[in-house]
Amino acid sequence: MKQLSKYILVCLFTIPGMFAQAQGVYKKITSYRAYYGWAKHAPQDWMILRHFVNDGKPYLLLVNPQTLETKIDEPGFYEIKPMSIDEARAFFKTTPYVKALQKAEKQSLSTQDAGIESGLPKQTGISLTADLCPSHKPLDKIIFTSIIAEFKKVEQPVPVALSVTGMWMRQHPQDLEWLKKLQDAHEIYITWINHSFNHRVSAKLPLKENFLLEAGTNINFEVLETEMAMLKNGLMPSVFFRFPGLVSDKELVYQITDFGLIPIGTDAWLAKGQQPQAGSIVLIHGNGNEPVGVNDFIKLLKSKTQSIAKKQWLLYDLRESVDEEFHGE
Ligand SMILES: [Zn+2]
Repeated sequence: MKQLSKYILVCLFTIPGMFAQAQGVYKKITSYRAYYGWAKHAPQDWMILRHFVNDGKPYLLLVNPQTLETKIDEPGFYEIKPMSIDEARAFFKTTPYVKALQKAEKQSLSTQDAGIESGLPKQTGISLTADLCPSHKPLDKIIFTSIIAEFKKVEQPVPVALSVTGMWMRQHPQDLEWLKKLQDAHEIYITWINHSFNHRVSAKLPLKENFLLEAGTNINFEVLETEMAMLKNGLMPSVFFRFPGLVSDKELVYQITDFGLIPIGTDAWLAKGQQPQAGSIVLIHGNGNEPVGVNDFIKLLKSKTQSIAKKQWLLYDLRESVDEEFHGE
């Protein structure tokens, strides 16, 4: 009886937003589409990114343009003004979210590693991003058990950003469940980055015609189908996108920002020998295909044990790393 009343208390005093990530599994999605606008609900305005129907009920995917937090909600809670993406960007132009989109577009010319590739250098620590490209190998769980162990006393949950493909979600339901359990137990907090659905790659084609630049690529499908797969698996899509192979061109960058997504590059791909600096967005692969990068990361973590204990070296939430730069401008 005591247990039961405790359970009821916990439920009563649970703030709904706290478990935003775990709140919804949308298994019967129809008519998922890009849909932009202003969702007004005092004291916080949200920008609308998507509209979909699940089991006959309409929902919106929303972003808080001040914090880059995303959530799913019912349209009935808001006063809604539909806009084009350009109108919505103009309306929210002073916010960190729209400024981050602009910054990513300014860094759109290079074939590799376009977009935002680091946070503020004043930060002591890094943002960890791990890519889950299609793979038949199991998830590299050591990444997660290591960060949880190292940061146990200083950061809980430990923030990590995972770039996930539709194919990986399809291939690894048990690994996905394992990650979700860590998240539900507040051991880690995952920002889910869209990494395309198919992540096609050719061993022969030059970079300019490879990955998403390969002929016949359907960008609508690659972006929206991945978001739908996230929602069906109970994951909350973020406003971030990582190009497969980090390969893009100017046109592709603008296609992605037109979906309201911020391309995220890296300035420290560990397996390529790039050394992380304060504020780096570190890239490793968590899909079992890049053991060198994972080992380098574990070594890095071990070398920082003392700084971590003194809170002089931390892992940063990617949303905050990208967002912070544009506050107070
Ligand atoms: Zn990849």
